[in-house]
Amino acid sequence: MKINLLGATGSIGTQCLDICRSHPDITPNSLTAGRNYKALAMYAREFSVRTVCIADESLYSALKTELSDTDTRVLCGREGLCEAASDKNADMTVNAIVGAAGLLPTEAALKSGSKVALANKETLVAGGSYIMGLAKRKGIHIIPIDSEHSAIFQSLQGSRDPHGELRKIILTASGGPFFGKKREELKNIDPEKALAHPNWSMGSKITIDSATMMNKGFELIEACHLFGVSPKQVEVVIHRQSILHSAVEFSDGAVIGQLGVPDMRIPIQYALTFPKRLECPAQPLSLTACGDLTFEEPDTETFGCLKSAMKAADAIDTTAGAIINGANEVLVSAFLNGKADFWDITDGVAAALENVPAVPADTVEHILEGDRAGREFARAFLSK
Ligand code: NAD
Ligand code: MG
Repeated sequence: MKINLLGATGSIGTQCLDICRSHPDITPNSLTAGRNYKALAMYAREFSVRTVCIADESLYSALKTELSDTDTRVLCGREGLCEAASDKNADMTVNAIVGAAGLLPTEAALKSGSKVALANKETLVAGGSYIMGLAKRKGIHIIPIDSEHSAIFQSLQGSRDPHGELRKIILTASGGPFFGKKREELKNIDPEKALAHPNWSMGSKITIDSATMMNKGFELIEACHLFGVSPKQVEVVIHRQSILHSAVEFSDGAVIGQLGVPDMRIPIQYALTFPKRLECPAQPLSLTACGDLTFEEPDTETFGCLKSAMKAADAIDTTAGAIINGANEVLVSAFLNGKADFWDITDGVAAALENVPAVPADTVEHILEGDRAGREFARAFLSK
């Protein structure tokens, strides 16, 4: 099987390449990266890929020089990403880009008729109604890579009628590094503290989203789109150990969940091999070694990003998701660069949702405009 792997140099991308190494019949056809052209060139050589694309156009000639003695085709920019995403030489496109930059490549892959394995949750947060509609028209089932959504997807596999039988989704959350604390206790948080996630090692943007709980809010919106449920059917439960990756409750009260060690290679590999399962390099789970499993309610007053996402989820067919996602990207990047306080993220997202008008998210233009307006609002919010 051949894959187009977008975001190949990131946390998910490199773990996906690990899976290719352990299963030589899964091979990358095209690889893309944002700016890291050296790593991209290294992987292109290792796997002799057909096409590479660097999103940052100013790095095109540097990448071209790195690969001048190979047959690999070199692309750049947004159009290059969409071309790499829709390269018909592959059987599936894996989108592991971070942020709303992943939206158009997802659209391009679907339009070309390619199967899609999706780590890039921002595609669905910003443009879920449009993207799910497009996938349906094309007859393509988007397979989730996000661990919670993979767990839900896996838990639904035994059901003959997932829509009729599914009563609710239990979406688990680790709670991040600041769980159990109130805002007054969480002063002067620097990026180093916020980047210390208790259970998962991930890219910096999603790690900050986990600390603010924006990530769980985005995952609530993602779940509504992927599984066709209303936000009221999704219960967010804090589970500090990250062993139960999520569960579903059926109409008869039976609850089925998926457990495992917190290792993204399991859900990434499942998305690639579904409906089959293969050996995976992840450690097996020992229930006796992991000790107590605990479950608690989330604190949406302290972690206001979760509350904002719940409000946006109530307007799921509008650009509210694109607005809060765009605002969040600007605020997180400012926080990581020392230009914003940790709580500016929570407050800026809430203010963006309150002040930027949302419209139906039925076209890419509306979604991109929501994203732009969210970003502009966040920049103005920070400059006050
Ligand atoms: P990361 O920052 O480690 O990697 C992101 C990748 O996207 C890199 O290859 C980078 O070069 C590329 N990229 C960055 N900006 C880009 C742009 N503007 N255009 C094109 N490419 C760009 O991120 P990650 O942690 O691997 O996360 C990727 C996606 O997967 C995110 O949407 C995240 O929410 C989701 N996800 C990640 C994890 C995880 O464990 N890391 C778990 C679940 C979901
Ligand atoms: Mg997740």
